Amino acid sequence: MSLAELQQLERASVIASYARAPVEFVRGEGTRLWDAQGEEYLDFLCGISVTNLGHCHPRVVAAVREQAGRLMHVSNLFYTEPAMRLAAALSRASLGGKVFFCNSGAEASEAAIKLARKARSAGEVVVVHGAFHGRTYGALSATPQEAKQAPFAPLVPGFRAVAPEPHALRAAVDARTAAVLLEPIQGESGVHVLSEELLLAAREACDEHGAALIFDEVQCGMGRTGTLWAYEQTGVRPDAITLAKALGGGLPIGALVTGERLADVLAPGDHGSTFAGGPVVAAGALQALALTDDPALLARVREHGQRLASGLQELAHVRAVRGRGLMLACELDVQAPALARRALLEQRLVLNATGPSTLRLLPPLTVTAAEIDEALARLARVLAE
Ligand code: PLP
Repeated sequence: MSLAELQQLERASVIASYARAPVEFVRGEGTRLWDAQGEEYLDFLCGISVTNLGHCHPRVVAAVREQAGRLMHVSNLFYTEPAMRLAAALSRASLGGKVFFCNSGAEASEAAIKLARKARSAGEVVVVHGAFHGRTYGALSATPQEAKQAPFAPLVPGFRAVAPEPHALRAAVDARTAAVLLEPIQGESGVHVLSEELLLAAREACDEHGAALIFDEVQCGMGRTGTLWAYEQTGVRPDAITLAKALGGGLPIGALVTGERLADVLAPGDHGSTFAGGPVVAAGALQALALTDDPALLARVREHGQRLASGLQELAHVRAVRGRGLMLACELDVQAPALARRALLEQRLVLNATGPSTLRLLPPLTVTAAEIDEALARLARVLAE
């Protein structure tokens, strides 16, 4: 089927909630993607921080194939080994409590909100401006962005949005607060690293008032910033984290992971999801987690992140570079969406714009120095035009 035919099918049959680029990808391996014409691309977006181990990592593929041929689904009415092993591995690698599985980042936000409210008998959830926690109603209500929320009113009550400043956050937390929900590095709003002071203020305010501090690590977790979890690079340990995106090595899975204090808040019947933690995605996630929780890989993420950030700083039209590890954005003095489109179509470099002047780069954690240099050369050519 040609691209024109796919576009015709889309116009006729697909609800127009996405603005797709005119490219059909048919194969991926490592940092490379190939379109239907056989043209090769460098992927510096990773399906928005999903294919962190590169496309089709052989160990993830083998585990998924093996499990798919043996047992795909039985529901959470029964045990399967991959889910139990994955929960144990996630808990061991992070906060030491317990895990609730779901299928996406938005669902992980929903689980976190429900758990925090049950722990506090109702209560408000405090979030900060610029946050993105997903598009389902609870998650959207925790996402204080006018353009995303306004068409879908009325939202879920009980959310309070404050400026990402320590005094504003402290003032918003009181005895009615169930949780403070934060991305330690805001991804969708353009890779903004929240300050250490803000995170410390959130920790102190939650401790003072008995509220839960929950970090959304859906985008910045799973090695993206050069440590397995972004919170490890802060002086703050949250009470729970939400995960999704790269957790499944390319397949859809989400998780809420708690510390010990919140581990036993939810009881049978409180929450659930038919597909959550299914054996195929859990088998893939077990491999993805084991491959990512590797000190050598994480050290390379930090080293390559610096190489990419320094290279970006040298490019024409780049005004500022920010982020951690391989979660980077640059501010341009030209239109970022048009530039990302030209990078894709003219230089076969995949990245995206998160705003009118912001370009986001999320290459695989396995990216090589040569691939970084090649991507920088391609970006330089688009910026030079
Ligand atoms: N939280 C963060 C920080 C995200 O970046 C995203 C998605 O971009 C989500 C939640 C929602 O994840 P999903 O699209 O899997 O529902």
